[in-house]
Amino acid sequence: GGWNGRLRTEEEEGRTRAVIVGGGGGGLIAALALSSAGIETHVFEQDEETPEGMPDVDKSRGHTEPLVFSPSCVQLLSQWGLSSLDAKGIKRPDFGGKARSIWFRDLRAFSGRLLRRERWDCVCIRPKDFCELAKEKMQERRSLFNISHSCKVTECVDVSWGAAIVGENGVKEAGDVLIGADGMKSRVRRAIAGENYRDQVFTHGFTQWSGAVEDESSAFRFYDDAIHMYGGKQSCAIVFRLPSNIINWSIIRPTEMEGRNALSEWRSMITSWQLNEDGSVEIPASEVMLLRESFDLFDTDKSGALDMQEVKVAIEQCGLAVSDEDLQGIIAEIDKDGSGEFEFVEFVELVKTLVLRIREAEDAEETAVKLRSEIDGIKLELKARQEELKLAEAKVFELRKAGAQGPLDIEKRAEAIPLELDGLKDDLSKAVKKLERAEAVGKKKQGEDELEWETARKALGQWLRKEDCHEVLRRLVNATDRPQRKVVEDRAVLPSWVLGRMVLVGDAAHPLVPGTLMGGQELVEDARLLLECLSSHSIPAEIPNALVDFSRKRVPSAAYSHSLARRRLQLLCTPGLDWELSSEDEIASILETPSLPLDYRART
Ligand SMILES: Cc1cc2nc3c(=O)[nH]c(=O)nc-3n(C[C@H](O)[C@H](O)[C@H](O)COP(=O)(O)OP(=O)(O)OC[C@H]3O[C@@H](n4cnc5c(N)ncnc54)[C@H](O)[C@@H]3O)c2cc1C
Repeated sequence: GGWNGRLRTEEEEGRTRAVIVGGGGGGLIAALALSSAGIETHVFEQDEETPEGMPDVDKSRGHTEPLVFSPSCVQLLSQWGLSSLDAKGIKRPDFGGKARSIWFRDLRAFSGRLLRRERWDCVCIRPKDFCELAKEKMQERRSLFNISHSCKVTECVDVSWGAAIVGENGVKEAGDVLIGADGMKSRVRRAIAGENYRDQVFTHGFTQWSGAVEDESSAFRFYDDAIHMYGGKQSCAIVFRLPSNIINWSIIRPTEMEGRNALSEWRSMITSWQLNEDGSVEIPASEVMLLRESFDLFDTDKSGALDMQEVKVAIEQCGLAVSDEDLQGIIAEIDKDGSGEFEFVEFVELVKTLVLRIREAEDAEETAVKLRSEIDGIKLELKARQEELKLAEAKVFELRKAGAQGPLDIEKRAEAIPLELDGLKDDLSKAVKKLERAEAVGKKKQGEDELEWETARKALGQWLRKEDCHEVLRRLVNATDRPQRKVVEDRAVLPSWVLGRMVLVGDAAHPLVPGTLMGGQELVEDARLLLECLSSHSIPAEIPNALVDFSRKRVPSAAYSHSLARRRLQLLCTPGLDWELSSEDEIASILETPSLPLDYRART
């Protein structure tokens, strides 16, 4: 039987089972690939089901960019089931009108000069639409492809015979292999790399704005059936026209243009620092200069020291809530010379304190998640005991009424239950108190909520004018209801993605910088290689070897794509990249250096 308590049928018993954490593109593509080869897959997704029946991955990822698949990736997807056979029996990709073929039709500088006109036969599809397609496949392969929604996985364990997950609400499931496809902030990655592991987050000095416009009246006909990519003086922009008249745009520009909000990057910097064995904070020598730059940014009146208000901004930019009382406490602790102001040396001490507080808040948040799940469990137990007591009392009443004499087992049980109930109530109130404490420590201030979009939009509009951007791009930005803004960051590729029977795919293993059109392809490559390795070690006992094989082969190629994505981003947004003088070949080499999945073109 499975750990979830359900007895398995004879047919199910012989199959390899994969438990997949995360129902975004990575999880669904892996499920599609593995289930096409007869592997039973069960996806656990934290988001709730949308009315259409799939998780709202667009919402959970906080951006709306489409996934882009190269021709070879499309071919692989069709082999895994997203296809229909034409009359000659040849497999053709069929995305049921949800995807569009794209090509670089107009690739030009903001000044409007056409740089390249070439068909590049890829498809782009919104993650939501991709999930819809996967759902159709799921219905066809019912016993091999399942998804559970509203199930946040809180624990993952590797045991010799398999790997298992525990979710909020007490959901449990085990399989022969556990695939972590749970995105940038992966829970599975922590289980694999160790609870003390902290991601190295790299920011690259850029911010990405993105949004979508419904073009019902075809006001943006200019962007017909194409992907458009612009290189500005210090920025780049990508515009997609998607099915259903949706136009997606995204602009990447230097973070320093964002004014005060540029400082939001500094939280990413300081949270990537490692702690020493004794729990103290180690500031990497290479980042002292950056710290000095942050100090200068916070020092808005350029007095050479931070006053109380400026210190408050620095703390809030870390996402920490700080009351006036709190602030006084921090100042008293650090401001040794009692000047009421922070010079750079004191600022360094402040930063160390902040790093520890952020860690504390993160740990508390995690504890809160576990406690909520524990509380749910106790409540269920309480309800069950209360029901049991009611039934037992009714039974005793019935038996006595029927003339039963002497001690009754059921009566003894009914007498014992109130004690158990007291114990459970006690546990519940302790857990609730612990939760309140954890929530108080973990309470964060959402800096982003404070952002006044109108002000930001004006600033972006003004800047676009300065960049001499194409008129239509400016109109698109103005027509967007609520664009999103994100500091561009990526995380180091983990050196190994495997622990026993647990393995990582997608952004959980190799989050790339955005805006380089490579994410979708990498997901396909993960699934392809994983399937290949699992197929060549088909006995369940050999699965750990298959996963090691996968990680050994995939890590170097993912690291290559990771650095290629960074290079593309830097080149596209570097001031001084001379678009006028660059030859077409140079530009092609920047934009079209093949990442590994693109190489399939040669193979397929
Ligand atoms: C801003 C931005 C722009 C991008 N633009 C493009 C582009 O234009 N073209 C392109 O091809 N790629 C793009 N990418 C990259 C691409 O989107 C990602 O590589 C891809 O979405 C990764 O898929 P994933 O399934 O690994 O992660 P995600 O899409 O993040 O999915 C992870 C899923 O796991 C779920 N989850 C997380 N934790 C848990 C848990 N504990 N329990 C259960 N479920 C959990 C989440 O709800 C989510 O549904 C972009 C990425 C970003 C960040």
